Amino acid sequence: MPRQLFVTTALPYANGPFHIGHMMEYIQADIWVRFQRMQGHAVHFVGADDAHGAPIMIAAEKAGKTPQQFVANIAAGRKPYLDGFHIDFDHWHSTDAPENHQLAQDTYRALRRNGLIFTRDVEQFFDPVKGMFLPDRYIKGECPKCGAKDQYGDSCEVCGAVYAPTELKHPYSTLTGAAPVRKSSEHHFFQLSSSRCIGFLQEWTVGAGQDGSPRLQAEVLNKIKEWFTVDEFGHGGLADWDISRDAPYFGIEIPDAPGKYFYVWLDAPIGYLASLKSYFDSGKARERGEARSFDEFMADPATEQVHFIGKDITYFHTLFWPAMLHFSGRKTPDHVFVHGFITVSGEKMSKSRGTGIDPLRYLQLGLNPEWLRYYIAAKLNGKVEDVDFNPDDFVARVNSDLVGKYVNIASRAAGFLARRFGNRLAAELGADGRTLLEGLQAAAGDITALYDQREYAKALRETMALADRVNEYVDANKPWELAKKAGEDARLHDVCSTCIEAFRLLTLYLKPVLPALAAQVEAFLRIEPLSSVDASRLLGAHEIGGYSHLLQRVDAKLVDALFEAPAQAPAPEAAVAGKSGNGAPASALLPGGEALAPTIAIEDFARIDLRLALIVDAARVEGSTKLLKLTLDVGEAQSRTVFSGIQSAFDPAALVGKMTVVVANLAPRKMKFGLSEGMVLAASHVDDKTHPGLFLLEPTAGAVPGLRVR
Ligand SMILES: [Zn+2]
Repeated sequence: MPRQLFVTTALPYANGPFHIGHMMEYIQADIWVRFQRMQGHAVHFVGADDAHGAPIMIAAEKAGKTPQQFVANIAAGRKPYLDGFHIDFDHWHSTDAPENHQLAQDTYRALRRNGLIFTRDVEQFFDPVKGMFLPDRYIKGECPKCGAKDQYGDSCEVCGAVYAPTELKHPYSTLTGAAPVRKSSEHHFFQLSSSRCIGFLQEWTVGAGQDGSPRLQAEVLNKIKEWFTVDEFGHGGLADWDISRDAPYFGIEIPDAPGKYFYVWLDAPIGYLASLKSYFDSGKARERGEARSFDEFMADPATEQVHFIGKDITYFHTLFWPAMLHFSGRKTPDHVFVHGFITVSGEKMSKSRGTGIDPLRYLQLGLNPEWLRYYIAAKLNGKVEDVDFNPDDFVARVNSDLVGKYVNIASRAAGFLARRFGNRLAAELGADGRTLLEGLQAAAGDITALYDQREYAKALRETMALADRVNEYVDANKPWELAKKAGEDARLHDVCSTCIEAFRLLTLYLKPVLPALAAQVEAFLRIEPLSSVDASRLLGAHEIGGYSHLLQRVDAKLVDALFEAPAQAPAPEAAVAGKSGNGAPASALLPGGEALAPTIAIEDFARIDLRLALIVDAARVEGSTKLLKLTLDVGEAQSRTVFSGIQSAFDPAALVGKMTVVVANLAPRKMKFGLSEGMVLAASHVDDKTHPGLFLLEPTAGAVPGLRVR
């Protein structure tokens, strides 16, 4: 029976760009989603920005924007990260969307009808300088439980305790540094401490999902047991949850309570449902073959709800969230899959310094996103363990596994098949080849189970062990020697065909991790997109396409460049929970490594005629290691030829069809290879040895050749 899955990742807080911690979670979830789809299951995979709360209100105020403008800007920056790393969300939404306002208020009303909401006056910290109640995250002090210094107002990062901000010792406002004063106000509470909630959660947390496996990981259950425990003095146990905040606040108003807003953590997880609803209402679910409405889909007991989250938000997702859902009459999650943090060279990400890896810089430097997907997957398991990114290990692992063991198999066999056998595979294979392939096919069950349990490290280890066997087979049969001997044609054909069959099976097992590379392989082999059923078949006497290079080795220099401080260093927002303070100190470094040129007047600029150009053709220039010959359409009657020194950075074929900017009134220049009629613009650091990378300018969508850039 095909499963029907609703899968989410934690909602990132919309106060900064994604960092490597976000990408690790998205990669983990995306691999699982792609795997389930390859099994023939229906998966709806949605995300959203967590848009509300005082931190965003304050950040927007600082930036001179409305909170709505502020979060819209952040949302607009998500796509390059998600597309860049092949994260295949079906839909991306915002917790400030109307669906979420409606669903949050409905959920609250249902909890109130159910007798689980009450109000009580709360004395809270108030910043007398700023004139507002202080959000938890803007109060710091000493943890009431373990005494750790500089802890936030809601939870301790050292011992994991959750508490009220007023319990902190020696508190101070991080907005103004002032000692906060206590002020009273009426607050709304969700009665998590009620026997109904506790009874429900004690059963729910130890239950199983519809797939029969435990709903929560063993380590998570241990942590929850601690949270349930009441000591001999009556301390501990589940406490009621303060779900309201006073104006001024950016969020959703509480029904029948003017001036009161839901605390951001109430409406954030409801954003999962809001995003799914918006996805259904937009018709995209229909495109995935799901004809029912959002309500019908969620009312179906067969629908499985699965959340991927980081370990820091376990409490919210395994206690508050299921209790809220259950007592408002909704489906509860089948699984909450918790992962650890990512460290870089053994160091925890720092909130002030960020981390050594900026995902966008990774892409901009030309590092292949699938290298990172593979490396992270090769370290992930189903436990709540931290993952370390080690640069040397990254280079060694990717080069040895993906290039040395995997891609090598195809490149060794494809040349002989093209030259000697017209790219047609042998109909019959020898006994040793058949045995090898049977072994590869037999591993499908194990590898499938490992992917399903998020044991990606083991799945990839097993796949690489299979690749080792194939390489041993190649070394034993030496096709390069068979090719030289007379009368060995049939054997050469057999060996190379076996290699291609094996390569196809390995690609099938790697496809959830390497979707773009798998698509290239499918094109090369001239086959339909691989899915799990393909493990039980072989290609037989099939004609494949011509082999072209599939994967580069990692250049260690590029990885080094990733760790150098970029000239302008906007430190990525570091905390996975996302509720931390912002920004790096202002940088004194020169932008792009060089001082700005002397000031010019607007008339000076107007003399330069910049035009949009379409690259109609691009080719290497014989006798030059630097130049590409570009044929440009600048919207004129005839195309232009421009010689550009960008050969080192671009594959000519990849440039054809791109738009760029050309200096159109530059005097033509006679060069050794011909006349150059203009100059294309590209950006680079002044020192291209320490900061490699050359970036062509490209207009946004819809532009046409000939438009003037002014
Ligand atoms: Zn503590």
